[in-house]
Amino acid sequence: MSSLAISMDGAALARKKRSALAAQVAEIEAHGDRRPCLAVVMVGEHPASEVYVRNKQRACEEVGIDSRKIVLPERTTAAKLEEVVRALNTDPAVDGLLVQLPLPAGLDPAAVRGWIDPGKDVDGLHPENVGLLASGTPRFVPCTPAGCLELLREYDVPTSGRRAVVIGRSLIVGRPMAALLSMPGIDATVTTCHSRTADLAAVCREAEILVAAAGKPELVQTAFVRPGATVIDVGIHRIADPTRKSGTRLVGDVSPAVAEVAARLTPVPGGVGPMTIAMLLANTLQAYRSRRG
Ligand code: NAD
Repeated sequence: MSSLAISMDGAALARKKRSALAAQVAEIEAHGDRRPCLAVVMVGEHPASEVYVRNKQRACEEVGIDSRKIVLPERTTAAKLEEVVRALNTDPAVDGLLVQLPLPAGLDPAAVRGWIDPGKDVDGLHPENVGLLASGTPRFVPCTPAGCLELLREYDVPTSGRRAVVIGRSLIVGRPMAALLSMPGIDATVTTCHSRTADLAAVCREAEILVAAAGKPELVQTAFVRPGATVIDVGIHRIADPTRKSGTRLVGDVSPAVAEVAARLTPVPGGVGPMTIAMLLANTLQAYRSRRG
Protein backbone atom coordinates (compact mmCIF):
# COMPACT_ATOMS: atom_id res chain seq x y z
CA MET A 1 0.00 0.00 0.00
CA SER A 2 1.43 3.42 -0.89
CA SER A 3 1.60 6.05 1.83
CA LEU A 4 1.05 9.73 1.23
CA ALA A 5 3.48 12.52 2.07
CA ILE A 6 2.71 14.86 4.96
CA SER A 7 1.30 18.06 3.50
CA MET A 8 3.37 21.03 4.72
CA ASP A 9 0.62 23.51 5.47
CA GLY A 10 1.95 26.94 4.51
CA ALA A 11 -1.45 28.57 4.94
CA ALA A 12 -1.60 27.50 8.61
CA LEU A 13 2.01 28.49 9.32
CA ALA A 14 1.46 31.86 7.63
CA ARG A 15 -1.61 32.45 9.85
CA LYS A 16 0.53 31.72 12.89
CA LYS A 17 3.24 34.12 11.66
CA ARG A 18 0.71 36.87 10.94
CA SER A 19 -0.81 36.59 14.36
CA ALA A 20 2.66 36.80 16.00
CA LEU A 21 3.44 39.87 13.87
CA ALA A 22 0.07 41.44 14.73
CA ALA A 23 0.91 41.06 18.43
CA GLN A 24 4.26 42.82 17.88
CA VAL A 25 2.62 45.68 15.98
CA ALA A 26 -0.04 46.01 18.69
CA GLU A 27 2.75 46.34 21.25
CA ILE A 28 4.40 49.09 19.15
CA GLU A 29 1.12 50.99 19.02
CA ALA A 30 0.54 50.49 22.74
CA HIS A 31 3.83 52.34 23.28
CA GLY A 32 2.38 55.27 21.35
CA ASP A 33 4.63 54.72 18.29
CA ARG A 34 3.39 54.89 14.73
CA ARG A 35 2.67 51.71 12.76
CA PRO A 36 5.16 50.28 10.25
CA CYS A 37 4.43 51.17 6.61
CA LEU A 38 5.04 49.26 3.37
CA ALA A 39 4.98 51.07 0.00
CA VAL A 40 4.37 49.11 -3.20
CA VAL A 41 4.99 50.69 -6.60
CA MET A 42 3.20 49.26 -9.63
CA VAL A 43 3.85 50.29 -13.21
CA GLY A 44 1.16 49.66 -15.80
CA GLU A 45 -1.71 47.22 -15.70
CA HIS A 46 -0.95 43.60 -15.01
CA PRO A 47 -3.90 41.54 -13.73
CA ALA A 48 -1.77 38.94 -11.86
CA SER A 49 0.30 41.70 -10.19
CA GLU A 50 -2.90 43.43 -9.13
CA VAL A 51 -4.02 40.25 -7.35
CA TYR A 52 -0.59 39.85 -5.67
CA VAL A 53 -0.54 43.48 -4.54
CA ARG A 54 -4.11 43.24 -3.22
CA ASN A 55 -3.15 40.12 -1.24
CA LYS A 56 -0.11 41.93 0.19
CA GLN A 57 -2.23 44.91 1.21
CA ARG A 58 -4.85 42.67 2.86
CA ALA A 59 -2.15 40.88 4.81
CA CYS A 60 -0.68 44.22 5.92
CA GLU A 61 -4.10 45.33 7.11
CA GLU A 62 -4.58 42.11 9.06
CA VAL A 63 -1.39 42.62 11.10
CA GLY A 64 -1.69 46.41 11.47
CA ILE A 65 0.97 47.47 8.95
CA ASP A 66 0.00 50.52 6.88
CA SER A 67 0.33 50.03 3.15
CA ARG A 68 0.65 52.52 0.36
CA LYS A 69 0.08 51.63 -3.29
CA ILE A 70 1.56 53.90 -5.95
CA VAL A 71 0.31 53.11 -9.45
CA LEU A 72 2.19 54.64 -12.38
CA PRO A 73 1.06 54.54 -16.00
CA GLU A 74 2.35 51.86 -18.41
CA ARG A 75 4.44 54.42 -20.32
CA THR A 76 6.30 55.71 -17.25
CA THR A 77 9.91 56.61 -18.09
CA ALA A 78 12.87 55.22 -16.16
CA ALA A 79 13.62 58.76 -14.94
CA LYS A 80 10.10 59.19 -13.52
CA LEU A 81 10.16 55.77 -11.83
CA GLU A 82 13.56 56.55 -10.32
CA GLU A 83 12.22 59.86 -9.00
CA VAL A 84 9.24 58.09 -7.35
CA VAL A 85 11.45 55.39 -5.79
CA ARG A 86 13.96 57.94 -4.49
CA ALA A 87 11.17 60.05 -2.99
CA LEU A 88 9.93 56.96 -1.11
CA ASN A 89 13.52 56.25 0.00
CA THR A 90 13.65 59.60 1.76
CA ASP A 91 10.06 59.54 3.06
CA PRO A 92 10.44 59.04 6.83
CA ALA A 93 6.96 57.47 7.08
CA VAL A 94 7.88 54.59 4.73
CA ASP A 95 9.78 51.62 6.21
CA GLY A 96 9.61 49.00 3.45
CA LEU A 97 9.55 49.57 -0.28
CA LEU A 98 9.16 47.29 -3.28
CA VAL A 99 8.55 47.68 -6.97
CA GLN A 100 6.18 44.99 -8.21
CA LEU A 101 7.48 42.85 -11.08
CA PRO A 102 7.14 42.32 -13.98
CA LEU A 103 7.82 45.82 -15.31
CA PRO A 104 6.74 47.00 -18.76
CA ALA A 105 9.32 46.47 -21.53
CA GLY A 106 11.85 49.29 -21.52
CA LEU A 107 12.22 49.45 -17.74
CA ASP A 108 15.24 47.51 -16.52
CA PRO A 109 14.52 45.59 -13.27
CA ALA A 110 18.25 45.49 -12.42
CA ALA A 111 18.44 49.29 -12.50
CA VAL A 112 15.27 49.58 -10.41
CA ARG A 113 16.66 47.20 -7.76
CA GLY A 114 19.67 49.48 -7.42
CA TRP A 115 17.57 52.60 -6.77
CA ILE A 116 15.84 51.22 -3.69
CA ASP A 117 17.33 52.19 -0.32
CA PRO A 118 18.95 48.91 0.87
CA GLY A 119 17.58 49.63 4.37
CA LYS A 120 14.01 49.61 2.99
CA ASP A 121 14.54 46.78 0.47
CA VAL A 122 12.08 44.25 1.94
CA ASP A 123 12.30 42.03 -1.18
CA GLY A 124 16.03 41.64 -0.49
CA LEU A 125 17.00 42.20 -4.13
CA HIS A 126 19.29 45.27 -3.89
CA PRO A 127 22.90 44.23 -4.73
CA GLU A 128 23.96 45.14 -1.18
CA ASN A 129 21.40 42.76 0.33
CA VAL A 130 22.20 40.04 -2.23
CA GLY A 131 25.88 40.42 -1.25
CA LEU A 132 25.12 40.27 2.47
CA LEU A 133 23.22 37.00 2.02
CA ALA A 134 26.01 35.58 -0.18
CA SER A 135 28.49 36.56 2.56
CA GLY A 136 26.53 34.60 5.13
CA THR A 137 25.40 37.73 7.00
CA PRO A 138 21.91 38.35 5.62
CA ARG A 139 19.91 41.53 6.31
CA PHE A 140 16.73 41.16 4.23
CA VAL A 141 16.25 37.63 2.88
CA PRO A 142 14.02 37.38 -0.23
CA CYS A 143 10.55 36.44 0.97
CA THR A 144 9.95 33.18 -0.94
CA PRO A 145 13.14 31.35 0.12
CA ALA A 146 12.73 32.75 3.64
CA GLY A 147 9.23 31.22 3.69
CA CYS A 148 10.56 27.86 2.42
CA LEU A 149 13.11 27.81 5.22
CA GLU A 150 10.40 28.53 7.81
CA LEU A 151 8.42 25.57 6.48
CA LEU A 152 11.47 23.29 6.83
CA ARG A 153 11.88 24.51 10.43
CA GLU A 154 8.20 24.12 11.29
CA TYR A 155 8.20 20.51 10.11
CA ASP A 156 11.51 19.71 11.85
CA VAL A 157 13.18 18.73 8.59
CA PRO A 158 16.83 17.96 9.32
CA THR A 159 19.15 20.03 7.12
CA SER A 160 22.65 19.65 8.59
CA GLY A 161 24.81 17.55 6.29
CA ARG A 162 21.77 16.67 4.15
CA ARG A 163 21.76 16.75 0.37
CA ALA A 164 19.60 19.60 -0.98
CA VAL A 165 18.85 20.27 -4.63
CA VAL A 166 17.35 23.58 -5.81
CA ILE A 167 15.85 23.69 -9.30
CA GLY A 168 16.17 27.27 -10.58
CA ARG A 169 18.78 30.01 -10.28
CA SER A 170 16.71 33.19 -10.31
CA LEU A 171 17.68 36.15 -8.15
CA ILE A 172 14.35 36.03 -6.36
CA VAL A 173 14.08 32.29 -5.55
CA GLY A 174 16.74 29.79 -6.68
CA ARG A 175 19.94 31.65 -5.84
CA PRO A 176 18.93 32.92 -2.39
CA MET A 177 17.39 29.51 -1.58
CA ALA A 178 20.69 27.78 -2.32
CA ALA A 179 22.61 30.42 -0.35
CA LEU A 180 20.31 29.99 2.66
CA LEU A 181 20.46 26.20 2.68
CA SER A 182 24.26 26.23 2.77
CA MET A 183 24.52 28.90 5.52
CA PRO A 184 26.25 27.95 8.74
CA GLY A 185 23.57 26.69 11.10
CA ILE A 186 21.53 25.20 8.26
CA ASP A 187 24.47 23.36 6.74
CA ALA A 188 22.93 21.47 3.85
CA THR A 189 25.11 20.36 0.94
CA VAL A 190 23.50 22.15 -1.96
CA THR A 191 23.33 21.61 -5.72
CA THR A 192 21.72 24.23 -7.95
CA CYS A 193 20.06 23.01 -11.16
CA HIS A 194 18.92 25.14 -14.10
CA SER A 195 17.69 24.93 -17.65
CA ARG A 196 21.03 23.54 -18.88
CA THR A 197 21.43 20.87 -16.20
CA ALA A 198 22.08 17.44 -17.73
CA ASP A 199 19.91 14.58 -16.44
CA LEU A 200 17.87 16.71 -14.06
CA ALA A 201 15.95 13.69 -12.75
CA ALA A 202 19.15 11.90 -11.67
CA VAL A 203 20.48 14.99 -9.86
CA CYS A 204 17.13 15.54 -8.13
CA ARG A 205 16.98 11.90 -7.00
CA GLU A 206 20.01 12.59 -4.79
CA ALA A 207 18.08 15.19 -2.83
CA GLU A 208 16.87 14.69 0.70
CA ILE A 209 15.43 18.20 0.32
CA LEU A 210 14.23 19.18 -3.14
CA VAL A 211 13.12 22.75 -3.88
CA ALA A 212 11.40 23.17 -7.26
CA ALA A 213 11.42 26.73 -8.64
CA ALA A 214 11.71 26.25 -12.40
CA GLY A 215 8.42 27.85 -13.37
CA LYS A 216 7.43 24.71 -15.36
CA PRO A 217 4.09 23.06 -14.55
CA GLU A 218 4.56 19.61 -13.00
CA LEU A 219 8.17 19.34 -14.17
CA VAL A 220 9.04 17.21 -11.13
CA GLN A 221 7.65 13.70 -11.50
CA THR A 222 7.93 10.73 -9.14
CA ALA A 223 11.10 9.55 -10.94
CA PHE A 224 12.83 12.77 -9.76
CA VAL A 225 12.20 12.08 -6.09
CA ARG A 226 14.18 10.03 -3.62
CA PRO A 227 11.82 8.02 -1.38
CA GLY A 228 11.38 9.86 1.91
CA ALA A 229 12.53 13.24 0.55
CA THR A 230 11.06 16.59 1.55
CA VAL A 231 9.78 18.43 -1.52
CA ILE A 232 9.08 22.18 -1.56
CA ASP A 233 7.04 23.30 -4.55
CA VAL A 234 7.56 27.00 -5.29
CA GLY A 235 5.92 26.99 -8.73
CA ILE A 236 2.45 28.35 -9.30
CA HIS A 237 0.63 28.12 -12.63
CA ARG A 238 -2.96 28.50 -13.71
CA ILE A 239 -3.73 25.84 -16.30
CA ALA A 240 -6.87 25.03 -18.30
CA ASP A 241 -9.13 22.40 -16.75
CA PRO A 242 -12.45 21.89 -18.52
CA THR A 243 -13.67 19.65 -15.67
CA ARG A 244 -13.74 22.67 -13.32
CA LYS A 245 -16.54 25.21 -13.25
CA SER A 246 -13.94 28.00 -13.49
CA GLY A 247 -12.28 26.23 -16.45
CA THR A 248 -8.86 26.49 -14.77
CA ARG A 249 -6.91 25.19 -11.78
CA LEU A 250 -3.64 25.95 -10.03
CA VAL A 251 -0.70 23.58 -10.26
CA GLY A 252 2.89 23.78 -9.10
CA ASP A 253 6.23 22.67 -10.50
CA VAL A 254 5.69 19.28 -8.85
CA SER A 255 3.27 16.55 -9.91
CA PRO A 256 0.80 15.64 -7.13
CA ALA A 257 1.82 11.97 -7.72
CA VAL A 258 5.08 12.83 -5.91
CA ALA A 259 3.10 12.56 -2.65
CA GLU A 260 3.35 8.78 -3.06
CA VAL A 261 7.18 8.90 -2.87
CA ALA A 262 8.07 11.94 -0.74
CA ALA A 263 7.81 12.09 3.05
CA ARG A 264 6.71 15.74 3.02
CA LEU A 265 5.36 17.96 0.26
CA THR A 266 4.06 21.54 0.10
CA PRO A 267 0.62 21.85 -1.53
CA VAL A 268 -0.25 24.31 -4.32
CA PRO A 269 -2.08 26.46 -3.42
CA GLY A 270 -1.60 26.79 0.35
CA GLY A 271 2.12 26.00 0.60
CA VAL A 272 4.85 28.46 -0.28
CA GLY A 273 2.55 31.26 -1.55
CA PRO A 274 1.06 32.35 1.81
CA MET A 275 4.49 32.06 3.46
CA THR A 276 5.97 34.47 0.91
CA ILE A 277 3.53 37.17 1.97
CA ALA A 278 4.02 36.44 5.69
CA MET A 279 7.78 36.89 5.25
CA LEU A 280 7.23 40.20 3.45
CA LEU A 281 5.36 41.43 6.53
CA ALA A 282 8.17 40.15 8.76
CA ASN A 283 10.77 41.97 6.62
CA THR A 284 8.71 45.17 6.82
CA LEU A 285 8.61 44.98 10.61
CA GLN A 286 12.36 44.27 10.62
CA ALA A 287 12.95 47.37 8.43
CA TYR A 288 10.80 49.46 10.78
CA ARG A 289 12.69 48.30 13.85
CA SER A 290 16.14 48.79 12.37
CA ARG A 291 15.23 52.25 11.04
CA ARG A 292 13.99 53.30 14.45
CA GLY A 293 17.04 51.85 16.18
P1 NAD B 1 12.42 32.37 -13.33
O1 NAD B 1 11.77 32.09 -14.64
O2 NAD B 1 13.07 33.67 -13.08
O3 NAD B 1 13.54 31.25 -13.08
C1 NAD B 1 13.32 29.90 -13.39
C2 NAD B 1 14.61 29.15 -13.21
O4 NAD B 1 14.35 27.78 -13.48
C3 NAD B 1 15.72 29.59 -14.15
O5 NAD B 1 16.89 29.78 -13.39
C4 NAD B 1 15.89 28.43 -15.14
O6 NAD B 1 17.25 28.18 -15.45
C5 NAD B 1 15.32 27.25 -14.37
N1 NAD B 1 14.63 26.31 -15.26
C6 NAD B 1 13.69 26.61 -16.18
N2 NAD B 1 13.31 25.48 -16.83
C7 NAD B 1 14.03 24.46 -16.30
C8 NAD B 1 14.08 23.08 -16.54
N3 NAD B 1 13.32 22.50 -17.48
N4 NAD B 1 14.94 22.35 -15.81
C9 NAD B 1 15.73 22.92 -14.86
N5 NAD B 1 15.70 24.25 -14.58
C10 NAD B 1 14.86 25.00 -15.29
O7 NAD B 1 11.31 32.04 -12.23
P2 NAD B 1 11.22 32.45 -10.66
O8 NAD B 1 10.87 33.86 -10.55
O9 NAD B 1 12.41 31.92 -9.94
O10 NAD B 1 9.93 31.59 -10.25
C11 NAD B 1 9.89 30.19 -10.39
C12 NAD B 1 8.46 29.71 -10.14
O11 NAD B 1 8.09 30.03 -8.83
C13 NAD B 1 7.40 30.35 -11.05
O12 NAD B 1 6.39 29.38 -11.29
C14 NAD B 1 6.84 31.45 -10.20
O13 NAD B 1 5.51 31.77 -10.54
C15 NAD B 1 6.91 30.81 -8.85
N6 NAD B 1 7.00 31.74 -7.73
C16 NAD B 1 6.16 31.53 -6.71
C17 NAD B 1 6.23 32.34 -5.59
C18 NAD B 1 5.31 32.05 -4.46
O14 NAD B 1 5.18 32.89 -3.59
N7 NAD B 1 4.67 30.89 -4.43
C19 NAD B 1 7.14 33.38 -5.52
C20 NAD B 1 8.03 33.55 -6.59
C21 NAD B 1 7.95 32.72 -7.67
